[in-house]
Amino acid sequence: MNSLSLYLHIPFCRHRCAYCDFNTYTSLADLQLDYAAALAAEVRQVAGAERHPVHTLFFGGGTPSLMMPGELEVILTAVHTHFTISETAEITMEANPGTVDLAYLTAVHNLGINRISFGVQSAIPGELALLEREHDFAAAVTAVQLARQAGITNLNVDLIYGMPGQTLASWAESVQAVLSLQPTHLSLYCLTIEPGTPIKRWLENGRIPPPDPDLAADQYALAGEQLAAHGYDHYEISNWAMPGYACEHNLTYWRNGEYLGLGAGAHGHAAGIRYEVVKQPRVYIRRLQQAEAPGYPLSTAVAAHHTLTRPEQMTDTLITQLRLLDEGLEMAAFEQKFGQSLLDVYGRPVEQLIEWELLSLADGRLRLTSKGWFLSNQVFYRFL
Ligand code: SF4
Repeated sequence: MNSLSLYLHIPFCRHRCAYCDFNTYTSLADLQLDYAAALAAEVRQVAGAERHPVHTLFFGGGTPSLMMPGELEVILTAVHTHFTISETAEITMEANPGTVDLAYLTAVHNLGINRISFGVQSAIPGELALLEREHDFAAAVTAVQLARQAGITNLNVDLIYGMPGQTLASWAESVQAVLSLQPTHLSLYCLTIEPGTPIKRWLENGRIPPPDPDLAADQYALAGEQLAAHGYDHYEISNWAMPGYACEHNLTYWRNGEYLGLGAGAHGHAAGIRYEVVKQPRVYIRRLQQAEAPGYPLSTAVAAHHTLTRPEQMTDTLITQLRLLDEGLEMAAFEQKFGQSLLDVYGRPVEQLIEWELLSLADGRLRLTSKGWFLSNQVFYRFL
């Protein structure tokens, strides 16, 4: 049996940030206990009769750190009852600075959480205000210190570049400030302006300037230099890690591996099926009260599912694997898996992208070039 990763979605936030279009809600805190019970029921349903081995768990959101330790315990107990969690499993929780104290972090560490991902986003007060984040950078510094005090030393920090009004200098300052915290892992995301968000409205009515893609490219390159100088390995388009600290959970996604997505709005990929769970937490809780589960990997809360065709599996393998910068896509492994050479299937676009110096083929591996890192979406588009 293949080892799985489990993603558990927690759709609660205290306040909605100005750029956010994630599946999260600010007025449903009274549902948390019922939601934890529903997640435990979903764990039981999807597991089926077999105890699948699991090597990573990831509580994402939303703001998972709003869940009380007792609520998390309900979920984790179900996971341990129905799956075999490896002794070295990476168990991550996303957290917002300002939502955690030492007692909380100690409690979640005692429950088995051994990695925390902090949404810091910027060290600059004006930028945090634009994003409508609820914390300042001092809260991030405190949160990181408290996590270490609680015994959680594997720490990721998220930062955002490409923000309207952000400069190269202010970005370098944020990266430097975060480097002084010595996290084991950094995720740097380019701001995407999503429809329906306040930041999109401000852009349309001229309250803020449009983002500058050339500046964003310079910010990305500059951060790469800063992080390399501090010993971080740039292993995925948006992710850097100290040696030995690549995110195991996300590696499952990038190797097109199997993972179960549990919780409102979660997505999963297992047994040749891609699926998504209903988004609305109240509907999700209701659906988990139904008895007749479809069976592994689906629960009664599944909104849609699709059996992947062979061409879809090939494209997924190519696009996810190319995100890994050193690893890239091993041509022989692709051929072994699909019984067809990658160049037979994608010869023309691969040739063209190599000619444009966005892809390279060496040592039997296809990789994005450094020029292709920032243009990866355009590269991937050629295969769709
Ligand atoms: S904390 Fe994260 S999930 Fe919650 S509103 Fe802000 S960006 Fe969205």
